[in-house]
Amino acid sequence: MNKKEILEKFSADPQRYYNVSLFEDQGFERKSCNVCNRFFWTLDSERVKCPDHSDDTYSFIGDPPTSKRFDYTQSWKEVESFFVKNNHTSINRYPVVCRWRDDLYFTIASIVDFQRVMGSKVVFEFPANPLVVPQTCLRFKDLENVGVTGRHFSSFCMIGQHSIPNENGYWKDDCVNLDFNLLTQQFGIAKKEITFVEDVWEGGGSFGSSLEYFVRGLELGNAVFTEFQGDLSNYKTLDQRIIDMGAGLERFAWITMGTPTAYDCCFGPITQKLIQKVGIDADSSVLIPYFTEIAKNLELYDDLSQVRKNAIKTIGLSDEQINHIITPLEGIYLIIDHIRTLIFAISDGALPSNVGGGYNLRIMLRRIVSTMDRLKMKFDLDEIIDIQIDYLRNTYPELEKTREDVKEIISIETGRYDSSKERMQKIVSKLNKEPKVEDLITLYESDGVTPEYLKEMKVISEIPSTFYSKLSDLHQSKKQKEQVNLPLEGISDTELLFYGEDPREFNAKVLKSFKNFVVLDKTAFYARGGGQEPDHGEINGQEIIDITKHGNIVVHEIKGNIPKEGDMVSCKVDAKRRDGITKNHTSTHIINTSARSVLGSWVWQHSAFKEEDHARLDITHHSALTDEDVANIELASNSIIAKSIPVKIENFDRGTAEQKYGFRIYQGGVVPVKSVRIVSIGDLDIEACGGTHVVNTSDIEQIKITKTKRIQDGVVRIEFVSGDSAKEFVKKKQQDSESKELEQKQKEQEKEKRLEQRQLAKERIPIIAKSLLESKQGISTIDEITIELVESGKANFCYSTSNNYDDVFHIGLGEMLCKTDPKMVYCGLFEQGDKIRVIVYAGDDISKEKSAGEIVKSISQILGGAGGGSPKFAQGGGINKSKKEDAIKNAKSMIIE
Ligand SMILES: [Zn+2]
Ligand SMILES: [Zn+2]
Repeated sequence: MNKKEILEKFSADPQRYYNVSLFEDQGFERKSCNVCNRFFWTLDSERVKCPDHSDDTYSFIGDPPTSKRFDYTQSWKEVESFFVKNNHTSINRYPVVCRWRDDLYFTIASIVDFQRVMGSKVVFEFPANPLVVPQTCLRFKDLENVGVTGRHFSSFCMIGQHSIPNENGYWKDDCVNLDFNLLTQQFGIAKKEITFVEDVWEGGGSFGSSLEYFVRGLELGNAVFTEFQGDLSNYKTLDQRIIDMGAGLERFAWITMGTPTAYDCCFGPITQKLIQKVGIDADSSVLIPYFTEIAKNLELYDDLSQVRKNAIKTIGLSDEQINHIITPLEGIYLIIDHIRTLIFAISDGALPSNVGGGYNLRIMLRRIVSTMDRLKMKFDLDEIIDIQIDYLRNTYPELEKTREDVKEIISIETGRYDSSKERMQKIVSKLNKEPKVEDLITLYESDGVTPEYLKEMKVISEIPSTFYSKLSDLHQSKKQKEQVNLPLEGISDTELLFYGEDPREFNAKVLKSFKNFVVLDKTAFYARGGGQEPDHGEINGQEIIDITKHGNIVVHEIKGNIPKEGDMVSCKVDAKRRDGITKNHTSTHIINTSARSVLGSWVWQHSAFKEEDHARLDITHHSALTDEDVANIELASNSIIAKSIPVKIENFDRGTAEQKYGFRIYQGGVVPVKSVRIVSIGDLDIEACGGTHVVNTSDIEQIKITKTKRIQDGVVRIEFVSGDSAKEFVKKKQQDSESKELEQKQKEQEKEKRLEQRQLAKERIPIIAKSLLESKQGISTIDEITIELVESGKANFCYSTSNNYDDVFHIGLGEMLCKTDPKMVYCGLFEQGDKIRVIVYAGDDISKEKSAGEIVKSISQILGGAGGGSPKFAQGGGINKSKKEDAIKNAKSMIIE
């Protein structure tokens, strides 16, 4: 639908869509901007232009239009007290990690807090009506602007004022009245300063009129009246109309303070502290005109650097002023903004990584580090985090709990970036042409080189606008398994016995049967879901092979004959299998909470799988688990078992459960139903879960982690067994280690025996030598040593290939034999590890004709190796143990023939 068309239609009937009682009562005039023709409402008779085109745009910088001055924290207190005074409930912010919507990583607007997706429909669930909320919102699309424009943030507080028009809530008239009074009464802004501009909003199939309110060209808020459904040619009024007023808290603070930028009054004392540390002379006579110029011209150019250049030129800043005031200030603003966003995101359980929303966080951290590097700023990030949390906890006390966790994650991630820089430099230096988007994605995906880094290194001039969208397409969660279209129309919901008495045997009536599928009026067979594998069992003696849930109907797939519609059937659940799966399911909850307590608040279930005899839990964590981590998680898990804690199951209205237990309940992801089943293990673990569970943790008996592995950046897999499987695993491991021990013992004994033999052999060298030399002509063998004395008397040959002798023995015997008989050649071969070694001695006489070195060289070649030495002594070896006899034959032929 075209927004312009809707606006035209609505503005053509201002009485119906825009004229509220305030305008009547106060005497607002409706005017059309003489530049852009847009309609606006004002009390200022002189005003002829809309806020975008007025001359007083951004004139509040250096000259705030309010009598009072409120910084960020105080501004919220003012807004909150005003709305509470006017019968609103003030509720705490929701997490910035949007756990209740699977189409969003982060919370991007206050209204998102109350949206729940049911099938293809978005429904609204308000914990109170009317209400006001200081919702921290994360938006990453304008990162380039942060720190430079004076008003862009990567996270900001959206003041959400929400109402459903019914006996408690209100509609347009009251809403605009309240907003006007907030500005005039609470903030002391003159009535004439406030301009309301006609606009429209549309999204998700609904639309409505809206009134944006401005003071001196700064849009402070936008009151959206979501009223219709359909499109312009055919629409109807929504059953549930909604007021969605969103205002920027940062802007409220800014307009009352009139500082050069919104950054100066929204981050608390840290900004001044860093400015002093760097020693910037923040001379406001330069900053006010400069940032006013930036603010006024931002919309005029597509390119931010052009806006900046223009402002520098208009104000006439010197290079000195740019380099020593503007640039370092921009760096400081960026660093503080990005750290504030990381504080919220990490506190709410997000981790920097290279996938999904984690990618944005990694980019922010790398921008912080590279900005510090570029500007040679040495800041202590821990100190910045501390000072920011000290300031933010006035509004967000929950940040206190995760203070140390935020520091830990940021320090780990910073360390990783530092250590990857050298590697990135190498990769970048090898690039010989400017990379295209596809190359950038490959560089990032396989080498971790971010486009921000490439820009910093001046390899690319700009980050292509398609980079992030292409990258996120790659990481889009896999499409859900396509549901088979089964003929289930008109069948009533299956009664789920496993949520009640949960019998192992029951009788049921067949409501429908087709192909291999059977639908019963009630079932105790658990259908595949929530990572829990389906039950096995029999229907009328026929084996069940799968069970699936379609809406609220359970479909059993069976092998063999299927019963007829209308039949009564007897059903039997495989009790042993169910028992194993159930123990494993409760164990995933126990391990999840144990991992969180051992590792840190960032641990969330990423996914889980529960079978009869094994299961796994994937958790979010920054590094691979150490042996100590694993031991501690196992210990914590088993202590929960030892404490015999009852597992309680209760059903709650979703909104009530969220308010009562928080969003930690969504460990298994979004719950698309109105009533949630809450499984709690004391107050240690509370999750929304549809699975089967033990009655008491002691039923599990034991949990044993069998393996862990880092399966992707930021996700660790924990494989485990529980109950009987754990006991068997432990027993088998014990047996394995016992048999391993035995084997080790045997090996050691053998080694010792061999050493003994060798020692003995060494001692016997003189005796062996004597008897060898005393043997008759021809071939004789003594103690596995063969000697061949040749009648001609030219050469004698003695050798051994026994593994009972080592190098010391061969050297000793060879030397002794050759000394006594100068015509003797001695050749010893023996195995050592996976090699075979050879030692050759030649007596004084014979060595002149037959060199030991030559013989070794030749033998080693046959053995597939190399060797050499002097005519009298040489050694070598090879790897072909099977060539031992060939080698000896060769040696003999060289010596005797
Ligand atoms: Zn205009
Ligand atoms: Zn569960």
